[in-house]
Amino acid sequence: MSVRVENLTVSYLRHPAVHHASGSFAEAEATAIFGPNGAGKSTLLKTMIGALKPDSGHVNLGPFKRKDIAYLPQQSEIDRTLPVSVHDLVATGLWHQTGVFGKVGRKQRAKIQEALQAVGLVDFAERPISALSTGQFQRVLFARILLQDAPLILLDEPFNAVDAKTTYDLLELVRRWRDEGRTVIAVLHDYEQVRAYFPYTLLLAREIVAWGKTELVLTDLNLRRAAETAAHWHERAPVCRVDEEAV
Ligand code: ADP
Ligand code: MG
Repeated sequence: MSVRVENLTVSYLRHPAVHHASGSFAEAEATAIFGPNGAGKSTLLKTMIGALKPDSGHVNLGPFKRKDIAYLPQQSEIDRTLPVSVHDLVATGLWHQTGVFGKVGRKQRAKIQEALQAVGLVDFAERPISALSTGQFQRVLFARILLQDAPLILLDEPFNAVDAKTTYDLLELVRRWRDEGRTVIAVLHDYEQVRAYFPYTLLLAREIVAWGKTELVLTDLNLRRAAETAAHWHERAPVCRVDEEAV
């Protein structure tokens, strides 16, 4: 049994962002969520972690519990001004073991070191997170996920504004997670990344356009259908008066 979405509708102020979605995520596999802006991709992930309540239907986590999920929000939703070091942020990945105010022991310190090594940041442990580039910060968040050791990993646009080398290194971590039998679900915008690392794809445009093997989902026809659906949302949007005045 895998993670299933069952006739799921999730709305903001009664406007549905995800509409009557049903299907299941391949277990111990990597699935990309692909779709235009405003397609409900982030909304779906937030509903999976329990941060949003469905209007109808539900997410069935199958073999997983909430505590089994590691979730990486979109960068824009993360406060990087917090006065914490790389080491301390990564250490929060151990909360399920140590408790929020728990001590980090020797064994755990070694694990943190190992995770920093895996993302190429050993020399950055004492640096404040505010002094990192976007790519470095994303490496830190991946190190934190390594420590969480979660069987279900949700990533929301993990490579947005991230440099090519970092993207490649972190995609290799995704491959490692797959090899370890974890279920990885990631919102992505780059076809090549999806084709190379994600055998399954969910194409979302509020409704599910297609869901299954990546090569069968990312066809020209399906992508056109997703874009056409999205174009209709904009047609219904109110006219922007400011633009008219500017002409
Ligand atoms: P995506 O991640 O695919 O770009 P989202 O799930 O973030 O899309 O958003 C889907 C729709 O819901 C969009 O139209 C967006 O404007 C709207 N939306 C998202 N978050 C909120 C919110 N907190 N309040 C009101 N509307 C929201
Ligand atoms: Mg989003």
